[in-house]
Amino acid sequence: MAKYTGPVCRLCRREGEKLYLKGARCLSVKCPFEKQDNRRDFAPGQHGRDAQFKRNRSSDFLQQLREKQKARRVYGVLESQFRRYYEEALKSRGVTGVALLQILERRLDNVVYRLGYASSRAQARQLVAHGHINVNGRRLKAPSAVLKIGDVVEVRVVASGRTYFRELKAMDEGRAAPGWLNRNWSTLSGQVAKMPLREDIDANLNEQLIVEYYSR
Ligand code: SF4
Repeated sequence: MAKYTGPVCRLCRREGEKLYLKGARCLSVKCPFEKQDNRRDFAPGQHGRDAQFKRNRSSDFLQQLREKQKARRVYGVLESQFRRYYEEALKSRGVTGVALLQILERRLDNVVYRLGYASSRAQARQLVAHGHINVNGRRLKAPSAVLKIGDVVEVRVVASGRTYFRELKAMDEGRAAPGWLNRNWSTLSGQVAKMPLREDIDANLNEQLIVEYYSR
């Protein structure tokens, strides 16, 4: 189960926008995009400011590449797996770009995040990998598992006694669950009610550019 382990804010800086990868920190003044005294909203590295300049004059290819990279970073997926998702989307009957986003949205770590049981996809991934989540009554430790309509996700009874989940349960529901998920906050569970529609997917992505990148 490979994952990116480098500096996270660097990924946002590379894309030139906030990707909200770190939960509450992203909304605080600690975010490099928000710092008043030491604002670092340019690309990382020695020539970061030059890269910012080049981005403004980008070619079609560069735009496609950046969009693909942004999607990978938002969902925390490595290249080989992302390509597999694309090939799967290609075989589906619908619009390829939307099908790709639907696959990404139905990943187990994303569903746990969308249900509001984690403040970021990275945290959701950790909750799943540490065995705190059941799918259809059985423990599933694979954050990359793609759920189907009707699948039920719940925090395991053993885990729900932990401080994190007890405090979470006591809190207000906070972030609203998207329309394609039914959520039961009192039991920290949820169900995939239907396939996510494009308008349910709030990530700021242009899926058409991603399709163009892979179909070169
Ligand atoms: Fe991105 Fe969050 Fe880091 Fe800001 S704090 S750069 S939004 S990961």
